[in-house]
Amino acid sequence: MIDYNDIQRAAEWIRNADGIVIAAGAGMSVDSGLPDFRGTQGLWTSLLPAGMTERDVGSLTKGDCFVDKPVDAWQFYGRALQVCRQLKPHAGYAMLDRWARRVAHGAFVFTSNVDGHFQAAGYEEARILECHGTINFIQCGMPCGDAIWASGNMMDGVDIDALAPSALPRCPHCGHLARPNFLLFDDQCWVETRTTAQWERLRIWLRAVQRPVVIELGAGTAVLSVRMFAESVRGPLIRINPDESEVVGEGVGLRGTALDVLKALDAVLAGN
Ligand SMILES: [Zn+2]
Repeated sequence: MIDYNDIQRAAEWIRNADGIVIAAGAGMSVDSGLPDFRGTQGLWTSLLPAGMTERDVGSLTKGDCFVDKPVDAWQFYGRALQVCRQLKPHAGYAMLDRWARRVAHGAFVFTSNVDGHFQAAGYEEARILECHGTINFIQCGMPCGDAIWASGNMMDGVDIDALAPSALPRCPHCGHLARPNFLLFDDQCWVETRTTAQWERLRIWLRAVQRPVVIELGAGTAVLSVRMFAESVRGPLIRINPDESEVVGEGVGLRGTALDVLKALDAVLAGN
């Protein structure tokens, strides 16, 4: 059960804010049916190439997987791209967007999710920071330069199990194997220019906001980027998490899944 007084406090901060920072971790995507892309949770196994088991997930989340097993890696991430494009963002995205429209500076999204679901839900591209990059762009695997390009519909309708080495995406500049533009573990090759530009836009937006409130959603302690950012913003923190909802300092912890707690908050915000 979510404490009603805590929900009221959180709703009050949202009403009084002039800017909403949406800090989203894997739990935000899980509610749309997506796997935690940097974890090793069960849903990953549905994306694995034939013959591989959950034990093999680790080898396909390291930076060198596109060098060591290019076909397996592209089967894995090709299927992930299909899933990201097929699944629809859950109703919580629209609720947050509605609240953001009532405050002077709107919202800025900081997400570790690579699925592009804030864009898919209609959020403005210039108000999103994807700290681990995105599956919706690809880059040279070497890389030979900073260029990235949209993955778009390249995997739509493709029979992933039959993906041949000759059909794998290649860099248009040097011909080297391409890879998704997101950060893997032990990854020396991620092109971060897009994320760097997003950081710049976030800093400029934050400077204009006088009374920010941070809504942190489904950010675990295993990958700390989202929590660390959420705690760095000077403003009350609303931490929504099913099992790690404690807050130190000004803020409130709301225990539950992202979608459940957003619905509870939305009911209070709509009521008065
Ligand atoms: Zn290249």
